[in-house]
Amino acid sequence: MVATTTFVVLDGLLVDSSMCAGRTQISILRLNRVSHPPQAAVARRIAATLSQAGFEVYLVGGCVRDRLLGRDLHDLDLTTSARPADIAALFPAALEVGVHFGVMLVHLEGVEVQVATFRTEDSYLDGRRPDRVCFETDVRLDVARRDFTINTLLEDPFTGEIIDHTGGRADLDARLIRAVGDPMDRFAEDHLRMLRAVRFAARLGFAIEPGTMAAIQRCAPRAALISPERVRDEISRILTEGQARRGFELLDQSGLLQVILPEAARMKGVRQPPEFHPEGDVWIHTLGLLERLECPSLELALACLLHDVGKPGTQSFEDRIRFSGHDRLGAGIAREILARLRFPSAAIDAVCSMVAQHMKFKDAPKMTDGAFKRFARQGIFDELLELHRIDLLASQRPLDNWHAVSQRRASIPGGQLRPAPLLRGRDLLQLGYPPGPRFSRILDALEEEQLEGRVTSRDQALEWLNRTFG
Ligand code: ATP
Ligand code: MG
Repeated sequence: MVATTTFVVLDGLLVDSSMCAGRTQISILRLNRVSHPPQAAVARRIAATLSQAGFEVYLVGGCVRDRLLGRDLHDLDLTTSARPADIAALFPAALEVGVHFGVMLVHLEGVEVQVATFRTEDSYLDGRRPDRVCFETDVRLDVARRDFTINTLLEDPFTGEIIDHTGGRADLDARLIRAVGDPMDRFAEDHLRMLRAVRFAARLGFAIEPGTMAAIQRCAPRAALISPERVRDEISRILTEGQARRGFELLDQSGLLQVILPEAARMKGVRQPPEFHPEGDVWIHTLGLLERLECPSLELALACLLHDVGKPGTQSFEDRIRFSGHDRLGAGIAREILARLRFPSAAIDAVCSMVAQHMKFKDAPKMTDGAFKRFARQGIFDELLELHRIDLLASQRPLDNWHAVSQRRASIPGGQLRPAPLLRGRDLLQLGYPPGPRFSRILDALEEEQLEGRVTSRDQALEWLNRTFG
């Protein structure tokens, strides 16, 4: 999912799109996955041009970290002593994105490389972005303003030598996320770093170093000041980049969950009937779904996170613990959360529709053909079915119902889910029916007859019309 926003993130900076000369819409998720060899070769060529002009230049950040970990690269970042004007002179087609912060995008042979001038950042009065940046000539000052030691490693683009000014190599080997410098200061400067710590720890399977974790716990209330779009992007990545369960456990342990998703935190400790949920409370069940996500769409992942968010508000103690209407209440809560976090409306609709319908499966085998076909022809049906499968697994229940619904769906030829109409409004007009709201009732009822297989031709449709509506 790529959303249009008035902010863009460049080299870790939140930048007003108005500051980006030439480009106002940039993928804020920067998920342009790339294979290493051609990318690296292009970055080396760009680095060679800078180097031959007398500038210092290194690969830095995620690409160095991920190469050392043997992971796929997402994007390539070069850091250099060249100023934006120098970069523009060497690469006239470079895009001056975030030029005030010294960030340029250089395109060569279809590959995009971010080239950023060594910089330090002045005070962060709003906890979101620096008030001013200063261009530097000493790369050590540039690495010192970066977030985590594993993200500060520099790589000589020509020799592959790793240059480590912060102990990042040892932390990479020890699988630790450690803030650069004093963690309290670093999280107070830029609150987003707290969510980034969780995201990297979850995605890479690293621990958060205790001092860094303690600082996040103390600074967590300030996460309320992060812009909703940036929270949205971090949550989206934590949900879809792998190890979503771990990500949400860390959000919980760090105190961030309560601040950014209080509605989800309310699921903690909400007891469920043990005969249906031997795994435990609503939150533990939800984590069980997140654990089973494999490269999910964002919509499916959000639906898993929020499918039972209506349970805390509907819990009742009758013959047993019940949550009557939690699907409907949950869809409303999900809509509030996702709108607050500025998700696109199509994603909100899809997620809320899944939350509202996740209980329908228990009745699906008994549905009439017409009702089942209407259920199964929705655009989100495959994801809804997958939500049902994961929901069953997370409740330690057998997959019989999921198999039954899947088979029933597979047995219906595609054309029968949405049969071509046998009569239309103009036919009704010609037959002398007065136009009005009754038309859609007649046509809906006729479609139901088609879906049920009771009417299959135009003649049968006319006969049915005459018989039913006179
Ligand atoms: P990913 O694989 O998610 O792209 P990355 O490490 O490349 O990981 P980016 O968001 O692309 O992360 O940022 C590139 C680099 O910029 C980081 O490695 C880090 O050195 C620095 N950086 C990014 N965001 C911040 C921040 N909020 N505070 C400090 N440094 C940051
Ligand atoms: Mg990156």
